[in-house]
Amino acid sequence: MPDCIFCRIVHAQLPAARVLETPGVLAFLDIAPVNYGHTLVIPKVHYPNLLELPDELWTEMGQVSRRVAQALRAALYAQGFNIGMNNFEAAGQVVFHAHIHVIPRYFSDGLKLFPQESYKPGDLEKTAAQLRQVL
Ligand code: 5GP
Ligand code: ZN
Repeated sequence: MPDCIFCRIVHAQLPAARVLETPGVLAFLDIAPVNYGHTLVIPKVHYPNLLELPDELWTEMGQVSRRVAQALRAALYAQGFNIGMNNFEAAGQVVFHAHIHVIPRYFSDGLKLFPQESYKPGDLEKTAAQLRQVL
């Protein structure tokens, strides 16, 4: 097992406020929540990021994330929720054990989403073509 805090949570070597467990996946509260109820959904086996995850586990993480989101609405009266995943350091990933963030949202929370910009002329189609070439 790699030296990883989320692996240690899976194996109960570190405490966590667990909310749901399925055969391959564990969901527990983020220790530093964006809002109360902010939950992390992780595979029980260590994979560093989305690109390494087997499809079946990614599917199971999606199913668990949706159940958690429903619970946030039912139990904490979330008015909405964000699902997010940071992959690689440049995207803000700090714990290199793949995890989905499920974040309850409220009109009153004052949070803003990512700032957005505009494409320069021609760049929209050029960018799509770059992606199509490798897809
Ligand atoms: P990342 O930036 O890698 O997507 O997010 C890692 C998340 O893990 C952060 O939101 C952070 O608050 C949370 N976190 C880090 N260490 C612990 C821990 O020991 N326990 C729990 N429950 N959450 C943690
Ligand atoms: Zn791990």
